[in-house]
Amino acid sequence: MNNNLIAVFKKIVGETYVLTSKEDLLSYGYDATPGFFHLPATVIIPENTGQVSQVMAIANKEKIPVYVRGAGTNLSAGTVPTQGGIVLLMTRMNRIIEVDTENLVAVAEPGVVVSDLNKIVEQSGLIYPPDPGTVTTATLGGTVAENSGGLRGLKYGVTKHYVMGLEVVLADGRIMNTGGKNVKDVAGYDLTKLFTGAEGTLCVITKIIVKLVPAPETRKSMMAIFNNLDNAGNSIASIIANKIIPATLEIMDNATIRTVEDYAHVGLPVNAEAVLLIEVDGIPAVVEKEAAKVLEVLKANKADEIRVAKDTADRDKIWAARRAALPALAKLRPTTFVEDATVPRSKVPDMIRAINEIAAKYKVRIGTFGHAGDGNMHPTLVCDIRDKEEMERVYKAMDEIFATAIKLGGTLSGEHGIGLGKLRYMEDQFGPVGMEVMRTIKKALDPNGILNPGKLVGEC
Ligand SMILES: Cc1cc2nc3c(=O)[nH]c(=O)nc-3n(C[C@H](O)[C@H](O)[C@H](O)COP(=O)(O)OP(=O)(O)OC[C@H]3O[C@@H](n4cnc5c(N)ncnc54)[C@H](O)[C@@H]3O)c2cc1C
Repeated sequence: MNNNLIAVFKKIVGETYVLTSKEDLLSYGYDATPGFFHLPATVIIPENTGQVSQVMAIANKEKIPVYVRGAGTNLSAGTVPTQGGIVLLMTRMNRIIEVDTENLVAVAEPGVVVSDLNKIVEQSGLIYPPDPGTVTTATLGGTVAENSGGLRGLKYGVTKHYVMGLEVVLADGRIMNTGGKNVKDVAGYDLTKLFTGAEGTLCVITKIIVKLVPAPETRKSMMAIFNNLDNAGNSIASIIANKIIPATLEIMDNATIRTVEDYAHVGLPVNAEAVLLIEVDGIPAVVEKEAAKVLEVLKANKADEIRVAKDTADRDKIWAARRAALPALAKLRPTTFVEDATVPRSKVPDMIRAINEIAAKYKVRIGTFGHAGDGNMHPTLVCDIRDKEEMERVYKAMDEIFATAIKLGGTLSGEHGIGLGKLRYMEDQFGPVGMEVMRTIKKALDPNGILNPGKLVGEC
């Protein structure tokens, strides 16, 4: 990028907020996704919407690619600047503008870290439910652009269920607002939903209005151990069929159980085929009733052992096992691919079985855990990206995992997004017409193709 342009950008955002040294740029050439790296030409860190607008207007005129970045924790190479250009880092725009306790909404800038928002709203007895595993680092803007989910997704939904309105800067620098604080608002196309989950391909999100909900008064956690995978699968379906929607209903397969036990020594039975971790929350009387019903269902579906948390320490122990799943698997080999192939919840046992067969067929080590209640599995492939022969087998295994999810009526992504990693499967899910419609939207909003080019819908 020529020095004149760099000087213009420095004038807009301030001298220290335009990075160009190789050492600085290195940190922004990759994100949490293994296997993708490219240096940007510069990193620009704006302080407000006006600055974003000015930067975008110039980038659009000069046809410079722009990669919007929050914390860079995404797992789909969404922030890797694959064609160089500008990384637009949003972490300086990190103000919580308003917590409106009458309308139960909060208004915040995109660089706010999700758990920081929760710390503030909890003071008013409220929560902002989307809780990806990265809540203490991921930004609100990144989670909105990625439409992130998390452990509480089954009962509380994912990010798109909480975004009520946005301020965005379009590719050419124009600023627009969508939605607002109205609970009911059906005017026009739902642009808030369109921009939520657009993965930085349609706009830069500069302000977010989110819905808040009352914090649950109490919660009850339990762990059910199964020596037969089908009994675990039947329990998942049966809990929901009994009209209980737990806040959290997680599963770990045998490979994950063994690895977690080896790593964290939390007392997991290493021979079990599956462990379910369940939490119900709400007002005390309802929680007691729902917990009793869940216990009844687990027993009826032949759970081999059930452990109910008696106090906070017990609860922490149960969830420590789940929290250890990813770090334990990641410790096994140098490279970890956490995928999020998702299937209808009734297909969870079929999916786990298929993943185990795929692991054996390609001799790849895969542990599967995830949000069983909503069918959102995390098959986690551990390998060494430097080993070419192994990686060929790993990529073949991934292809087959995603093909299986689609065959079972599932989706490529329950929460991690598409970015570059899963782009090659998109047409399998959406077909040529679906892809054409999405590319038409992309071209209409970003005719020069500068926003995260080549990602999500591919080259346009
Ligand atoms: C260990 C681990 C656990 C995880 N657990 C979960 C989980 O449980 N659930 C889940 O859903 N995800 C999970 N993730 C994925 C990741 O944390 C989420 O996708 C998160 O929302 C990304 O936030 P971020 O601020 O890091 O965004 P980034 O990674 O910086 O960006 C994500 C995408 O959003 C775009 N973007 C960022 N900011 C903006 C903006 N202001 N305007 C427009 N576009 C923007 C980027 O271009 C990119 O495409 C996990 C990741 C890791 C590494």
